[in-house]
Parts: sequence; structure tokens; C-alpha cells
Amino acid sequence: MKPVVELKDVHKRFGSNQVLKGVSFAIPKGEVVAIIGKSGSGKSTALRCIDRLEIIDSGTIHVCGHAVHDPGLDIRSLRKDVGIVFQSYNLFPHLTVEQNVTLALKAVKGQPTGQARVIAERTLRQVGLLEKAQAYPEQLSGGQQQRVAIARSLAMEPQVMLFDEVTSALDPQLTGEVLRVIEALAEGGMTMVLVTHEMDFAARLADTVIYMHEGRVWETGPGSMLQAPQTAELREFLSH
Ligand code: ADP
Ligand code: MG
Repeated sequence: MKPVVELKDVHKRFGSNQVLKGVSFAIPKGEVVAIIGKSGSGKSTALRCIDRLEIIDSGTIHVCGHAVHDPGLDIRSLRKDVGIVFQSYNLFPHLTVEQNVTLALKAVKGQPTGQARVIAERTLRQVGLLEKAQAYPEQLSGGQQQRVAIARSLAMEPQVMLFDEVTSALDPQLTGEVLRVIEALAEGGMTMVLVTHEMDFAARLADTVIYMHEGRVWETGPGSMLQAPQTAELREFLSH
């Protein structure tokens, strides 16, 4: 079976700053990849390239049958298959939780209100927030807002979910509730890429861990590789 996500020799630079220097990896259906590494190593850029939020300079990216590197890519069609959640939740403050979740369903997928509400109900239940459907974002904790952002993404029924340091702005207790939602998604068979600082979580949940260093996949292996780093760079990174 073809991988759901496949990067081959991806290069990306911003001006004279060569940020990705030949990144390759593949994710089979239902697997979880965790990307770790120092700030500035290119983790977010790699993730953004997968969703065509950045256009790569060379190499190829295939996602759910879409040739993401192809200038003729149907971006709307790609974005239906890829969900992405960032550190900042970016919920609309003047809309209720439910309205935040149904907005794209109606605007992008053209679903009627009734049908969109049924899907919102399902995904809000999935993240444990059905009882907050009529609340406004400011009435929720950071962890709850992030869970709404995840529900909003899931409502689009993506084939793959990308998470970019989604717990970095949260205190430890709220981090836990968000990680549990991600863990449940993994158990449900969702294909995911997780950029994270949560090393224990990465080691436990990920089928594959990718350590990025200076724009390259420096070391990769199963979660257990974090117990026995092979390179001085990963050893040094883990010691902090
Ligand atoms: P990480 O997520 O690992 O911290 P990033 O992918 O965000 O790393 O950034 C890698 C490098 O690319 C950094 O040097 C950063 O300043 C640069 N960079 C990222 N996005 C942009 C952009 N839109 N314009 C210019 N430089 C960028
Ligand atoms: Mg980043």
C-alpha cells in the first residue's frame, strides 16, 4: 500500500536561509510520526510543506494521492484530506464553539446547517466538549480551546492530521487533556504527524520518531530510539 504521506529529498529555503536540506520520510496509513528537534531545525516548515502552506524548491511530496509539489495541485482538494492544528488555536471569538466547528463544513464543504451540526456534535463529543457547544472561546481554558480546534479539524474528516506543538502554550495539566485526545485519535487509527516537545509522549505514541537537526532528518527510528540515541546531536538535545 502507498504511504499516506511521502516526502522525497525536499529542499526549502527562505532567501539565503536553506531550511530543509533534503528531507525524506514516509508515513504508512494509521501510523504516527513524531518530529522532534531544536527550535529552528525546520520542523514547522516540513509540516507546512505537507499542507502546501509553503512551496518547496525541489524534491517531491505526495499526500493521499495528491502531488503536493506539482504547481497544478488542487489545493482545496488537498486541504480536505489534511487537517492541521497549530500552537495558537485561532478560534473566532464572536462565534460559539459549535459555530467554530461548523463554519468550514458549511463554507468549504457546502454542508447544510443540520448536517454540519450533527458532525460538530460527534467531533465535540470525541474531544470531550459536547457540553461546551454553546459556549464562547473566551469562556474556555486554553486546553479546551485547543480541543475545539482539534474538533474543528476532525469535522472535515481528514485522512491525515498534522499537529505543530499544540501543547506548547499550555500548562502541564491542560497539556495532559490535549495529549489524551491525540492519543485516542491514534488508537482510532488516524494517520498523524506530531511536532512535539513532549518526549515521553512521542516515545510512547509514535511508531516512528524523527529527530531533525539543521534541516535534515538526523536520526530516525521507533520510540525506543530516545532511550539509546546514536548521534551526539540527539544525545545533546535529549540532555536538556
Ligand atoms: P522549527 O519549527 O524547528 O523551530 P522552523 O521550520 O519554524 O523551525 O524554522 C526553520 C528556519 O526557517 C528558521 O531559521 C526560521 O527563522 C526560518 N523560517 C521559517 N519560516 C519562515 C518564513 N516564513 N520566512 C523566513 N524564514 C522562515
Ligand atoms: Mg516550529
